[in-house]
Amino acid sequence: MNQLKQKVEITDVTLRDAHQSLIATRMRTEDMLPICEKLDQVGFWSLEVWGGATFDACVRFLKEDPWERLRQLRAALPNTRLQMLLRGQNLLGYRHYADDVVEAFVQKAADNGIDVFRVFDALNDLRNIETAMKAVKKAGKHAQGTLCYTTSPVHTPALFVEQAKAMQAMGADSIAIKDMAGLLTPYATYDLVKAIKDAVDLPLVVHSHSTSGLAPLCQLKAIEAGADRIDTAISSFASGTSHPATESQVAALKGTDYDTGLDLTLLSEIADYFHEVRKKYHQFESEFTREDVSVQINQVPGGMMSNLANQLKEQNALDKIREVFAEIPRVRADLGFPPLVTPTSQIVGTQAVYNVLAGQRYKTITNEVKRYLLGGYGQPPAEVNEVLQKKAVGNEMVYEGRPADAIAPELYRLRDEIGDLAQSEEDVLTFAMFPDLGREFLQQRADGTLVPEALLPIESAQSTATAGLATEFSIDVHGEVYNVEITGMGDFGVGKRKLYLSLDGMPEEVVFESLNEYVAQGENGRGRATEPGHVSAAMPGNIIEVLVKEGDTVKAGQAVLVTEAMKMETEVHANVAGTVKGVYVSKGDRVTPGETLIEIV
Ligand code: MN
Repeated sequence: MNQLKQKVEITDVTLRDAHQSLIATRMRTEDMLPICEKLDQVGFWSLEVWGGATFDACVRFLKEDPWERLRQLRAALPNTRLQMLLRGQNLLGYRHYADDVVEAFVQKAADNGIDVFRVFDALNDLRNIETAMKAVKKAGKHAQGTLCYTTSPVHTPALFVEQAKAMQAMGADSIAIKDMAGLLTPYATYDLVKAIKDAVDLPLVVHSHSTSGLAPLCQLKAIEAGADRIDTAISSFASGTSHPATESQVAALKGTDYDTGLDLTLLSEIADYFHEVRKKYHQFESEFTREDVSVQINQVPGGMMSNLANQLKEQNALDKIREVFAEIPRVRADLGFPPLVTPTSQIVGTQAVYNVLAGQRYKTITNEVKRYLLGGYGQPPAEVNEVLQKKAVGNEMVYEGRPADAIAPELYRLRDEIGDLAQSEEDVLTFAMFPDLGREFLQQRADGTLVPEALLPIESAQSTATAGLATEFSIDVHGEVYNVEITGMGDFGVGKRKLYLSLDGMPEEVVFESLNEYVAQGENGRGRATEPGHVSAAMPGNIIEVLVKEGDTVKAGQAVLVTEAMKMETEVHANVAGTVKGVYVSKGDRVTPGETLIEIV
């Protein structure tokens, strides 16, 4: 061994994955920039700063331009590689894009400051990362091929080795093992890393969430097996569903052949800074981000865990979370054991939520599950449940080609659709990622009406209520001020109404004895669904599409609306055959269970 040192390199993920895993991706650029000078001095191999969820949260909640964040970070971190996570053909959105959009997106991300692209596909279908990997090479940047780690009867080390070799053949500059759920165990890690390092002559990085508490041990075994790099998060944003703490791993390797050479004092100053920052986001902390070894059973990844908890809260069904966790592996098996990572984590997670809340499995099948079973996301790792597939797709043909081959070039159409609202190619790509939200964001930016979501504490006791139609107001109880927002209404039986409130940003459910007055002057004037012909939604959500108009004849079971809840689209069907007498919703409306959205007689 003599003097040969095998210095381990660190990618710090505090600015992307860590806050995604712990505080629902809410960290703002204003809390990143002040510490960049110190981060830039550390000597990290790279800093992961950008990805799908950060892009989404910028547009959806923070009302920040995600491209502007990237440019600001680039300027503030001149000496450190900036890294992003890219979902292959999905880019940062929730569908497959045509190749021309993938190429343009990668080029623009590179132009705005990304040096390292970690490219993955949720199904490890390498046809879905081909175009992105090529585009990264063309831009002269570092292409990191990624293996989504999972366990199943088909996911053997031999399979992963074959995939790593195929990525090397694609021109990958390094390989990442992406253990998003924290499923790795130390000795399985050793065997997997050894097998890959023996077969593939590329740097290997291990990304493992601490969900089960095993990740620091896994990384140590990975290093002993020849791994070159590990992903960590600064201690104040580490552990639980996030990552091993940067300082702990640096300290663990200090004085060994693997010594990272990073300065612990500087790192602890950075940790102190983020300790204060985290307090600001306390409303987004979730009890489900703590260490929990049951992830070895339910496979719910870190980023998904806190979002699932938040989403169930919104449906007033947080008490069902354990049932949902038990349903997730069953849905996953039905779908041929996809690794759970965006978008498959949402597809499986949301279908599991529907299966549990409906009290009947696959009573409602989301459009995404249907698309998945049609082959629209690529090839599932194993056989899918044929009965479910038949039920979901009917007589439609299952597609076996590369999904993007079925998508015509679409960049021109997208440019056209967004028109003058886009002031740059980056704006067009924002719109491409999020058609509705992106347009709304660009419109609000043009109007100067972008308002980020409120952070607690609420300092102003001023009422924002207006007359009787208030949906948002502050109340003062013995000197404590609460910010109340009425987010929806549901049916709760005779003479009672269930109100979905957000109290200081936290969803609450309140039952009112007699709310006729409120209902009478409600903002939308929709009646209560009391007849079989009254079509209503199963969950609070947004209307994506209205498929019928007044006077149409509909069959029982026909889709009449498409709603979006929890980022997943669901068709709402007519319960009875008849004629459409009234349509009380339009695209974009927020709806809640119990309202008559369409009336059929
Ligand atoms: Mn991750």
